Amino acid sequence: ATLCLWASVTEAEYLKYKDHKKSLSARISDLLGRMTLEEKIGQMTQIERKDASPDVVKKYFIGSVLSGGGSVPAPKATAETWVNMVNELQKGALSTRLGIPMIYGIDAVHGNNNVYKATIFPHNVGLGVTRDPALVKRIGAATALEVRATGIQYAFSPCIAVCRDPRWGRCYESYSEDHKIVQAMTEIIPGLQGDLPASSHKGVPFVAGKTKVAACAKHFVGDGGTVKGIDENNTVIDYHGLLSIHMPAYLDSIQKGVATVMVSYSSWNDKKMHANHDLVTGFLKNTLKFRGFVISDWQGIDRITDPPHANYSYSVQAGVLAGIDMVMIPQNFTDFIDDLTFQVKNNIIPMSRIDDAVKRILRVKFVMGLFENPMADLSLANQLGSQEHRELAREAVRKSLVLLKNGKSTNLPLLPLPKKVPKILVAGSHADNLGSQCGGWTIEWQGLQGNDLTVGTTILTAVKKTVDPSTQVVYMENPDTNFVQSNKFSYAIVVVGEVPYAEMFGDSSNLTIPEPGPTTIRNVCGAVKCVVVVISGRPVVVEPYVAEMDALVAAWLPGTEGQGVTDVLFGDYGFTGKLARTWFKSVDQLPMNVGDPHYDPLFPFGFGLTTKPSRED
Ligand code: BGC
Repeated sequence: ATLCLWASVTEAEYLKYKDHKKSLSARISDLLGRMTLEEKIGQMTQIERKDASPDVVKKYFIGSVLSGGGSVPAPKATAETWVNMVNELQKGALSTRLGIPMIYGIDAVHGNNNVYKATIFPHNVGLGVTRDPALVKRIGAATALEVRATGIQYAFSPCIAVCRDPRWGRCYESYSEDHKIVQAMTEIIPGLQGDLPASSHKGVPFVAGKTKVAACAKHFVGDGGTVKGIDENNTVIDYHGLLSIHMPAYLDSIQKGVATVMVSYSSWNDKKMHANHDLVTGFLKNTLKFRGFVISDWQGIDRITDPPHANYSYSVQAGVLAGIDMVMIPQNFTDFIDDLTFQVKNNIIPMSRIDDAVKRILRVKFVMGLFENPMADLSLANQLGSQEHRELAREAVRKSLVLLKNGKSTNLPLLPLPKKVPKILVAGSHADNLGSQCGGWTIEWQGLQGNDLTVGTTILTAVKKTVDPSTQVVYMENPDTNFVQSNKFSYAIVVVGEVPYAEMFGDSSNLTIPEPGPTTIRNVCGAVKCVVVVISGRPVVVEPYVAEMDALVAAWLPGTEGQGVTDVLFGDYGFTGKLARTWFKSVDQLPMNVGDPHYDPLFPFGFGLTTKPSRED
């Protein structure tokens, strides 16, 4: 009788899944064994911050919450506001019967870019140019610290799309048109998550603890190959092409312990990826042995049918059976929960599928120590936009620039520019525009223009900080030729480019620099020696004006640290960047990628002039 009593007491008090000394698999199966269907389906549900409250999280056993597309607790919210918000929701999760912590996700795709004062790194299109995986790994580590500084544990990054057509509005989220560069840049994953220990098993996710975040390789698979670069469209390519161009970076990501993979809105040969069992379960989970969790894209399940939600039960069934483990923002999350519950209770979706999904989600949460450390504190708050991270971003900007032209004849280079001259002109819509410099996915989903959005240095300010104090810097956004001629400028820096955009809003069939950019180029370059700096998420049409320019620099979307641009323009550092994309002459050549039979670019893949740092006068 004594023995019996002893056993029941310990059983009541001892919860194996809470014991971090137990093996991962023992903890997972112990916890799974205790869960009701309702609790399991709650884990599979990710809801939007706006729909979440501690009570909602508690009531529905919600597994994850996100700030999608820049949704923030308050404009210019501080780290403290973020941490408090995440902690409040976490308390809701911890107050459930089993106390399973929720995981909070955000689109930290170039730094913790939704958050005021965060360091904004160059978008991936610029990072591909650096050919420097170690740099990108350091950026991942800095991003993880800035994300954790706000209490968030999960970043929907990296985008490992291989963008084959710059007409795609997400091309700037892609490191390169060449899968080998994209593969190399998956080094951002150990940066975000920590280095995989040698003892790690293949495919098991790894996240090193409180200064790291769970990463998300996205969007599986073929997102960068859609016809005409139309977002969320159809990728028409044979199996070999899919495997050899779009799949390799997933192999690397899994080898590096990536915690999660996001499914693409796009279709492959007319089949929606969100419903593709062969690729999601067959290839990703079975062949590649990915053991983390697969997350849908935002309302991705709803969009399995066209129009979305046309046959909701079918969509839920097709998505969950395809192998999606966590459902990001079902359009109506209680409908999703009800529908999935019904289908499981009626054996339409087997419980084994639900258990697989929940095991994967729990695995990530256990591995990253969320059960031991569910609450965030302010100990990392000073990491947000720290000087060290800004220096790192500035270094990345320097290395991401590509010098496409330097001098009207090769023996008369314009760059590097001298710091000491009587008078220089800075012109163009993008010269004093932090928002344009950062592009989409900055504070707002679609990005913002102007200088008030966050803290950073515009190129104009950077010029002023870089030149000799005796040099007069004149700024005029769109000067006419008379103005340029009548002032005796030694030379001009013209900064023009694309206006911020994200996703399908950036799809473009003409890829021109919007007016007044071309006018500014003509007015200035016709009257004074000029360097044109193009701020854009992809190569744009420059062929009609390139002859008028003395120098041309592709700066992509450099982010908050404009001094990275002037460091190189004024010769404190040399130009080293090489194109990671093909720079076309005209859009009717597209798609055109390196290796194509009729390759006839304006500047080929791999091109980039170099300069040597100039000596201090
Ligand atoms: C995008 C994803 C993103 C998600 C959450 C979707 O629209 O396709 O890349 O992670 O929104 O904001």
